[in-house]
Amino acid sequence: MPKKEMKMPIDATQPYDDSNIFARILRGEIPCGKVHEDEYSLAFNDINPQAPVHILVIPKGAYVSWDDFSERASTDEIAGFTRAVGKVARGAGLVEPGYRLLANVGAGSGQEVPHLHVHILGGKPLGPMLSR
Ligand code: 5GP
Repeated sequence: MPKKEMKMPIDATQPYDDSNIFARILRGEIPCGKVHEDEYSLAFNDINPQAPVHILVIPKGAYVSWDDFSERASTDEIAGFTRAVGKVARGAGLVEPGYRLLANVGAGSGQEVPHLHVHILGGKPLGPMLSR
């Protein structure tokens, strides 16, 4: 039986490492199921969806996490990225049924990819925020 791959959470206090998988997607080295792209952001379908709709939105700038982004990004980057998250969710038809945004930051959250990403989850009732 194949061994289940154990993914290690990252340390979000470390400097940005541009070999991470989302940096490679941004450079076009790895394909993605693109949903949206603009000056500040790229959105694509999660490779391992946790809901019928599971889209990741990432900033084009090099930011490890929400902590890094909210501290260092320019006002234009923050506005552009935030608007993109809303636009992608609206475009996926999620406003009326409702959806969830989630951004993991660092080890305790289980963040696996050290490039900021916001998960957009929807397409079914999502239940409680955290597993009990
Ligand atoms: P995190 O746990 O860091 O918040 O979420 C990382 C997400 O990235 C996971 O939901 C995982 O399925 C997704 N992911 C990891 N590698 C890839 C990839 O190469 N392509 C896509 N589209 N999603 C990925």
